[in-house]
Amino acid sequence: MKKAINDKNRCVACGLCSTQCSRQAIDIYRGCYAVVDSKKCVGCGLCEKACPAGSIKICEGEDTGI
Ligand code: SF4
Ligand code: SF4
Repeated sequence: MKKAINDKNRCVACGLCSTQCSRQAIDIYRGCYAVVDSKKCVGCGLCEKACPAGSIKICEGEDTGI
């Protein structure tokens, strides 16, 4: 199943992705970058469209942090 994955190095922590997510799957970790809860994410892609930094991508599988 496709999931949103965030590139923490590009993220500017604006929070727009979080406001778009109907599943409440995104939190801004300590005000620094967006973190996606892969258990809640359904891969709809709304966060990817909303992100001005282009840091979120929809990919097959979940973020392993590698
Ligand atoms: S892909 Fe959809 S469900 Fe997943 S985090 Fe982004 S907006 Fe939320
Ligand atoms: S919209 Fe993009 S830049 Fe803004 S918090 Fe989400 S991932 Fe980071």
